[in-house]
Amino acid sequence: MTFASTQTVPTKDTPEARAYNRVRRRLSILDFLLGFAFLGALLATGWTFTLRDLAYRAAGQRYVLAVFFYVIMLLAISKLLGLGVDYYSFRLEHRYRLSNQKLRSWAWDEGKSFLIGLLLAGVVVELIYGTIRVAPQRWWLIAWAVFMGLSVFLVQIAPVVLFPLFYKFQPLEDEELKQRLLQLCRRAGTRVRGVYEWKLSAKSKKANAALTGLGPTRRIIISDTLLENYSADEVEAVLAHELGHHVRRHMLKGILVQVAITFCGFWATARVLRYAVEQRHMFDLLSDFASLPLLALVSVVASSLIMPFLNAYSRHNERQADDYCFRALPSVEPFISSMDKLAEQNLAERNPSRWVEWFFHSHPPIVKRIRAAEGFAQRRLTPRAG
Ligand SMILES: [Zn+2]
Repeated sequence: MTFASTQTVPTKDTPEARAYNRVRRRLSILDFLLGFAFLGALLATGWTFTLRDLAYRAAGQRYVLAVFFYVIMLLAISKLLGLGVDYYSFRLEHRYRLSNQKLRSWAWDEGKSFLIGLLLAGVVVELIYGTIRVAPQRWWLIAWAVFMGLSVFLVQIAPVVLFPLFYKFQPLEDEELKQRLLQLCRRAGTRVRGVYEWKLSAKSKKANAALTGLGPTRRIIISDTLLENYSADEVEAVLAHELGHHVRRHMLKGILVQVAITFCGFWATARVLRYAVEQRHMFDLLSDFASLPLLALVSVVASSLIMPFLNAYSRHNERQADDYCFRALPSVEPFISSMDKLAEQNLAERNPSRWVEWFFHSHPPIVKRIRAAEGFAQRRLTPRAG
């Protein structure tokens, strides 16, 4: 194993990669601000009461149905407001030759995501206002427990119910790769339930792989765009990284983190709602669902505040999975070259500024991941005495 070859891996970003990622970041900030302004405007102008009255009238004064109608209107307006940003993001992928999705297919996907979002939001909002009516004191505790149960259920069914709505999957057929993966698993003393080829090429030119699901649905998915262009050694390195997530139980740990965060989130939301009703008299009743924009605002602000910490936690897990990959394979070279290819193919920023990494990146920058691999190889070559 030599280090000479790794020196050809570029560490600087091309102007193209920088421009693409800068625009993407700006779009996500714009999207966030639009949502924030919309929720703020609903509360400040009192439009939320107009929407609530409309919902009541359409539902024939039936509470549960009125809540659902209110959610539909809220999501539909916010989708319309964000449509420009969504379409621009779609065009952007084409401008940088990262997508081959047709407009029709994109619009169909957008429609499906909207309906799924509507269904999930409907369930969560009904849960919140339903528990407020039944148990005004302890509602947040009950709602939180049910919410977590639903989330775990969703993680479990996602690979078999949600993902196939957007992409085709089929069990990995490559015999050699399967054998290599089995070998890795045997050495790790674990097993994965399955490896699936993810037909990403129908829509995107990017490559990706992930560990998804829970229990019986836990599986590694690996995009066809990766399988086509990477050597068997490189694919093995990617699989070893995903196996690292599995071995270090990152899915379970991630759920435990969510349990703690959503607990605080529901508690804080209940406090804010009580304050808004009892001290500020913004709404007559705790169960007045015109307060929904306020609850959404609390959750949006709270999630953006903790985002840097969640990203830091995710990067920590990614480093662990990388480290697992270094140890599992005889050489770090395939890992390094696969990282290089991924950066190239996905037009990723190899070396973003520190604040960009902090706020936006769930994975360590490519430059750091490669440096860690080189450091590991160096230590393996020169074991410490004693
Ligand atoms: Zn990973």
